[in-house]
Amino acid sequence: MSCLGKDIAKLGFGFMRLPTVGTTQEIDMDQVCKMVDLFLERGFTYFDTAYVYHGGQSEVALRRALVERHPRESFTVATKMPFFDMKDPAQVEEYFNTSKDRMGVEYFDFYLLHNLSEASISKAEEMGAWDFLRKKKEQGVIRHLGFSSHAKPEQIDDILTRHPEAEFIQLQINYMDWENEKIKSRECYEVARKHDKPIVIMEPIKGGFLASLTDEIRELFAATGSGNTPASLALRFCAELDGIITVLSGMSTLEQVEQNTAMMQNWKPLNDTEKKALDKAVKIIESHPRVPCTNCKYCMEVCPQEIKIPSIISILNDYEAYGQAEVIKKGYGMRVGPKGKASECVHCATCEQQCPQHIGISEVMEKAAGIFEG
Ligand code: SF4
Ligand code: SF4
Repeated sequence: MSCLGKDIAKLGFGFMRLPTVGTTQEIDMDQVCKMVDLFLERGFTYFDTAYVYHGGQSEVALRRALVERHPRESFTVATKMPFFDMKDPAQVEEYFNTSKDRMGVEYFDFYLLHNLSEASISKAEEMGAWDFLRKKKEQGVIRHLGFSSHAKPEQIDDILTRHPEAEFIQLQINYMDWENEKIKSRECYEVARKHDKPIVIMEPIKGGFLASLTDEIRELFAATGSGNTPASLALRFCAELDGIITVLSGMSTLEQVEQNTAMMQNWKPLNDTEKKALDKAVKIIESHPRVPCTNCKYCMEVCPQEIKIPSIISILNDYEAYGQAEVIKKGYGMRVGPKGKASECVHCATCEQQCPQHIGISEVMEKAAGIFEG
C-alpha cells in the first residue's frame, strides 16, 4: 500500500471559497492571513487551490498569505490545471507557468489535472498534458502528480488503468453521497483503493450544505454527544476512511478554521450511535426535494446564455424548503437581474456535461422559469 500522505494531518485548507471584502469579489487578505496562520499554528499543512478558483486570485492569495510569509518546508501546496476551454497544447505549459508564478513556488508538492470528466479525459490526452506533467515530475517541479474527478466509477477505473503515473486522486466523498446512486462516492473510493491510489477528499461537507441542516437534524446530531455539530460529524465520517491523504475543507471564515482545526486535532472515529444518526439524517434529507448543487460554478463557465445557474438553483431550493412564494419571487428578480434568467435557457445541455453532481440543469431551469417568471 502507498504511504503517500502518512505525515499529513487529516484536514486540508481548500482555497475555493475565501472571504471577500464586503459585497465585492476582492479577496479579504487580512482575514486570509489570519486563517492561514491559525491553520499552521494548529499543526495542519496542506493547502489546495486551482488555476480557476476566484478567477485566478486564489493562487495569488495563497502566495501572499502563505508562501511569502512562512518557510517553504512548513507547508505543502496543491493546484490544478483546467481543461474547460483549452484549445492549443501550448496552453498546457502556459497554464502551468502561470500557476507557478501566481503562487511564487519553485515546486508543487501536489499537482492535479482538474476535474477529469467524460468530456475532459480525452481533451487532457489530446493536449499532451500527461506527458508534459510527467516531465515536470522528473525535473522535480512536481513532487506528486494526480487528478481530481467527479466522474463515474467505471471512468475513474479507466483513467487509472490508462495512467498509472497518477500517484493519487481527489474525490468527492461525504456521507450523503456515499451510497447516492448518481455520485456513487463509495464505488469511486473503492476503485481508487483497488488501484492502490491514496485519496484527497473534497466536498466532505458538500459545499456547506451538510453544515446548515434543519433543526430536526441538528437536534438529532446534538443528542449523539457534546460538541457534535453537523460539520464535525461530516468531517469525521471522511477522516476515518483508510488510504486518505487529507480531507479538504473550503473554509471562508476564521471561525470555521478555529472550529475545524480544534475538532480535527483530536478527532475520533464515529461510534455506532453517531453512524446511526448520519444514516437517519440521509433519509430525512432525501425526503425533501432539493437540487444538490454545490455552487462550484463549472456550468457557468460553459453556458452560452450566461445563465446564473447556481443562484437560480439556490432560490429554487429555498422555495421548495420554505414555500414563501412572494418573498422568494422578489428575491429571484433581485439576485438574477435582467440577464441570465432561467427562461433564457436553450436546452443545449452543455452545462450538464460539466456538472459534477449530474444535475439535469436544463429541466431545472424550465421548472424555475415556470415558478418565478410565470
Ligand atoms: S442547457 Fe441551458 S443552462 Fe445549460 S448551458 Fe445550455 S443554455 Fe445554459
Ligand atoms: S449546477 Fe452543477 S456545475 Fe453548476 S454550480 Fe451547481 S453543482 Fe456546479
